Amino acid sequence: MSEVRVVVVGAGIAGLTAALYLEAAGQHVIVLEASGRVGGRMVSDSVDGFTIDEGAQFLSTRYPVLGELIERVGFAASIVEVNPWVAVVRGGRLRRIRPDAPLSPLRSGLLRLPAYLRLAVGGMRLGRRTRALSQNDLSAWTSYDETDGKTWSESYFGAEVTRFMIEPCIASLFFQRLHDDSAALAMHTTSLFYGLSGDVKLTAPVGGMGALTRRLASGLDVRLGSRVGSISVAPTGVELTVGAERISANHVILAAPASAARVLHPEPTATERELLATPYSTTATVAIMVRRSFRLGPDVSNLYAFNLPESDRGAVVAVTIEEAKGGGRVGNGHLFHAYLSGDAAPKMIASSDDQIVSVVLSELEKFLPGVSREVFATRVYRWKEALALTPPGRARLVAQYRKSIGPAPRFLLAGDYTGMPFTEGAAETGRWAATTLVDRLAQWGGGVGSVAAAS
Ligand SMILES: Cc1cc2nc3c(=O)[nH]c(=O)nc-3n(C[C@H](O)[C@H](O)[C@H](O)COP(=O)(O)OP(=O)(O)OC[C@H]3O[C@@H](n4cnc5c(N)ncnc54)[C@H](O)[C@@H]3O)c2cc1C
Repeated sequence: MSEVRVVVVGAGIAGLTAALYLEAAGQHVIVLEASGRVGGRMVSDSVDGFTIDEGAQFLSTRYPVLGELIERVGFAASIVEVNPWVAVVRGGRLRRIRPDAPLSPLRSGLLRLPAYLRLAVGGMRLGRRTRALSQNDLSAWTSYDETDGKTWSESYFGAEVTRFMIEPCIASLFFQRLHDDSAALAMHTTSLFYGLSGDVKLTAPVGGMGALTRRLASGLDVRLGSRVGSISVAPTGVELTVGAERISANHVILAAPASAARVLHPEPTATERELLATPYSTTATVAIMVRRSFRLGPDVSNLYAFNLPESDRGAVVAVTIEEAKGGGRVGNGHLFHAYLSGDAAPKMIASSDDQIVSVVLSELEKFLPGVSREVFATRVYRWKEALALTPPGRARLVAQYRKSIGPAPRFLLAGDYTGMPFTEGAAETGRWAATTLVDRLAQWGGGVGSVAAAS
């Protein structure tokens, strides 16, 4: 039996952030990670000189917690800006837009004038309404949490903006349906990703997301291959089992996805139980490595991504052109990454790699004619639990959970299902869990880990 004060379960970005904040507060923590590498859904693969982000694809200059941690671990020089041009398909053609070119949706023909005016006016109003709200803490968005994103977007921006800008954005970022998500998420995403409230830039780590999470983990005591099998409450704290080993701790930050955390949590409250029941969207991402001789047509050169609205969507909801992330990640060729929609993926995820690649390539041919002939390698990454669903009421539930924490909590939940469903949101939940533990125990007078050692 080993004895530790704080255990973090899961070395995804939520768990790593929690551990980094606890260490900064002077607490030694151990992080138990089931898999053989850190990062969770922020990991990268390396194939023939190509760096492939398997899950999370990009960061943003509006990610304050990650920005602070990146500075802290000396990784800032390895963060580069992503080409800001993206496109949305309308009428079978790619319509190019960029956040800092406000007229681009009109000029490209993505929106007609009346819809464009609604976007421009509504966007400014939205920017003013949401500017003061936290960009990473879902519990700050309770006032916009009553309705679903589609109802909000159609009444706020109208059908055309919803169809060509808001729905494709939610579908390609979260692999979810706009009408399943809270208006809070749609409003947040609209203001963040269409730059309606500021000068937001997308960024990416040189070496891929995995390089960043490895750096974040480098000073921490992370135990890989340590799947926590069970957690029980003991008189002096908590006991965790990892294979045959038993670890006794005073406090546990559960930073595993909801499906794993709900099996482990021995005494969830009603609010925790509701959070732990969170379902996730599903996707599979397909990396397509193509010979350098393949010529990018004018539509797709100098472009980071294109999204397919429902009217033009087959199985693929978005495609990224990875050289737009810079940092020499595409070896001697081109790397395209295609993302299966949240509707298609559950039906296709059990298919073979070859079957998935074949469907994706046939859909890509329309925008990248001749690409199939130039492919020399592919990889398929399956994400049964891709991103936590954020239905109406979720912001209120998170706020309620955060208010419910007692003076010396044994368990704290972290992870994207307890906040905004993306890297920065997950990081914010990790910071919240760490700072809440330190604050509560300081108020209580116990100090982290003052509970008597385990038997
Ligand atoms: C395809 C895809 C694209 C995405 N794109 C973006 C993007 O571009 N930008 C963005 O900001 N976000 C993006 N995201 C979302 C982002 O990756 C996640 O929201 C975030 O990484 C979640 O972090 P987390 O720490 O909450 O969970 P995870 O990353 O899932 O980490 C949980 C960890 O817990 C471990 N674990 C599970 N069970 C146990 C156990 N019993 N014992 C020990 N450890 C356990 C897991 O192995 C895992 O490492 C994307 C996600 C996917 C899937």
